[in-house]
Amino acid sequence: AHTGYFTHCNPALSSILGFSSEEFLARPFIEFVHPNDRQSTINEVEKQIAGSPVAKFENRYICKDGSYKWLEWRATTADENGLVYATATDITERKRVEKELQRSEALLKTTEQLTKVGGWEWDVEKQTMFWTNEVYRIHGLQQSELPPGSKKHIEQSIECYNPEDRPVISEAFRNCVEKGQPYDLEFPFNTVKGRRIWIRTIAKPIKENGTIVRIIGNIIDISDRKKMKKTLQESEVKYRSMMNAMKDPVYICSKDYRIEYMNPAMIRTLDHDATGEKCFKAIHGLDEICTWCRHDKIFQNKCFEYDITSPKNNRHYQVSNSPIVHEDGSISKLTIFKDITDLMLMETQYRQAQKMESVGRLAGGVAHDFNNALSVIMGYTELALMDADPAGPLHADLNQVLKAGRRATDITRQLLAFARKQTIAPEVLDLNGNVESMLKMIRRLIGEDIDLVWMPGKGLGNVKMDPSQIDQILANLCVNARDAIEGVGSITIETENIVFDAAYCADHLGFVPGRFVLLAVSDNGCGMDKETLSNIFEPFFTTKDVDKGTGLGLSTVYGIVKQNNGFINVYSEPGKGTGIKIYLPRHDSKAVDIQEESTAKIPQGHGETILLVEDALSILKLAEKILNGLGYTVLSDDTPKGAIKLAQDHKGEIHLLITDVIMPEMNGLELSEQLKSLYPDLKCMFMSGYTANAIAQHGVLDEGVHFIQKPFSRSDLAKKVRKVLDQN
Ligand code: ADP
Ligand code: MG
Repeated sequence: AHTGYFTHCNPALSSILGFSSEEFLARPFIEFVHPNDRQSTINEVEKQIAGSPVAKFENRYICKDGSYKWLEWRATTADENGLVYATATDITERKRVEKELQRSEALLKTTEQLTKVGGWEWDVEKQTMFWTNEVYRIHGLQQSELPPGSKKHIEQSIECYNPEDRPVISEAFRNCVEKGQPYDLEFPFNTVKGRRIWIRTIAKPIKENGTIVRIIGNIIDISDRKKMKKTLQESEVKYRSMMNAMKDPVYICSKDYRIEYMNPAMIRTLDHDATGEKCFKAIHGLDEICTWCRHDKIFQNKCFEYDITSPKNNRHYQVSNSPIVHEDGSISKLTIFKDITDLMLMETQYRQAQKMESVGRLAGGVAHDFNNALSVIMGYTELALMDADPAGPLHADLNQVLKAGRRATDITRQLLAFARKQTIAPEVLDLNGNVESMLKMIRRLIGEDIDLVWMPGKGLGNVKMDPSQIDQILANLCVNARDAIEGVGSITIETENIVFDAAYCADHLGFVPGRFVLLAVSDNGCGMDKETLSNIFEPFFTTKDVDKGTGLGLSTVYGIVKQNNGFINVYSEPGKGTGIKIYLPRHDSKAVDIQEESTAKIPQGHGETILLVEDALSILKLAEKILNGLGYTVLSDDTPKGAIKLAQDHKGEIHLLITDVIMPEMNGLELSEQLKSLYPDLKCMFMSGYTANAIAQHGVLDEGVHFIQKPFSRSDLAKKVRKVLDQN
């Protein structure tokens, strides 16, 4: 520590620091110096003692009240007595201003850097330019490359603009200097280093005594803002096109339920742009907030949904509402109307199809068991009839049994058709030819009071179908049409080629793309209401009296069409009439001619040997009896294994195998293949109530396979057996 003392102080020093002269002299002077300045002060005093003069020295002194003041000292060197003469000036205020200036300069600099705002000043008289750091940065220049006094600033600056903008900015600057016109412009800008940015340039004249002396201006790097604006614009375009393209109607409304935005789909649905209107009024036609919104929590930031049906277009909408939370915390409601009409229809259709499927399975199962029983009933009745006296009472009774049996057979056959279990032998057919061959029969069916109009399509494509199924379809549809007409009326049958492309099917629910042949039957009868229409394909659904309708007609048609991969479309209006359109897949190869049904008498056997296999004993016995009666030699067994044994033991030839399809141990097809190894030329005929996949997919037989449907009549069997045996 320095131990020097003041030896004399004038009143001025006392008044600056607040200590009296006695107080100053009582303690070492260094104790009056601010602790942070003590070391530098001691260094200075030591220099003085060593003899070097002190021009100016600044330090802080502690005042009596504890504050401190800045003093500026001027001092002599020490004299021979070690005394120093010094004068002090209070520079506290100057120091404060200086510091403030420094601070505000630093602030300006940081602000300039952060906001990217550069400042410049043009001295009109001296023709000199002053740039702040940021202006240099924006230009990509160092201050040393273009010092303040240089005359090149404007020239350099203009260079950075795009050539087409240069005249614009030059003119603006000139007008500002000469006419005092301020400007505020935005331009793309290329820094000296080649960076491409956007700037905003602002200038304003400063006048003194009416003359323009200076221009001050700002140059601002607005690239970030421009980029943001561009991004915003791009996303705006993106979302707008999304909204425009959306098929679902959408709108947004504010907290007071005023519509702020509607997309084009919403405008189309409403038929006008309701922006600005209250949503409950514009959308729901209500005078106050709808119940959904009243209970909703949308403005508490919760979503909600409801379903409505528009009375205007009768379409169903699922309406989902979600909040849009804005930056300021306010909430708008976004509402999307999703059209679910098609979806609901599809669901109904799907459920309907599933119902038909399960009803079909049930019907098919029952019909199958019935068939076996009916075969036995009818077969034995036929045999008994042959033995009965044609004139006796037994004969008439048996005929009644046979009649009832045939009716029951008809019903089971229809049930099988509905269940798609009807065994069919498809052929390539010309539909027009088939319909024409039916016309006579149809006329008889519908009576004289009803006109039958036949409009065959030209160049009609073929279909591949069992011809008897076409007969079934036509008969059923025409009988229904007849029943629908009271008194006079007309029935029209039409055919036509139809192509559905993918676009058509997208718009028409239930249609499948492809080439089809249309068979349409329309009438101008009583028509159907919606309720009836939704049930017509169900088996046993009928609106007719018990003795008139079985409710199996359209179910049969339905099953047949489905089995042939076609589809049905029904159009009906109560009181106007009904049109039923059946689309069958087109098949393009040559059609076979329709053969006239031969009505020859029952063909007999000539002692040929037939191997008969059937697991249902009653049917086995029946068939054996019939075949024996026709003059065939019959080997029979109720198991495939037994049949193989019979065949192995048999000495002579076997001409024909007649076998059931589905049996335990082995199916009919497998049996026939095994037997063919013993008798390579063996002819085969299958019999079944219906076919399972074991014999053919979906009951469709391969061409050339012989088949007889159970139950069969004596003449059926006789004809089929003869036909197979006579074939090469
Ligand atoms: P059914 O003729 O034995 O009643 P269908 O399955 O053929 O059974 O028809 C079922 C029901 O569909 C009929 O009872 C009738 O109500 C209605 N229907 C069918 N075709 C027509 C039609 N062309 N016009 C009016 N109603 C029809
Ligand atoms: Mg009917």
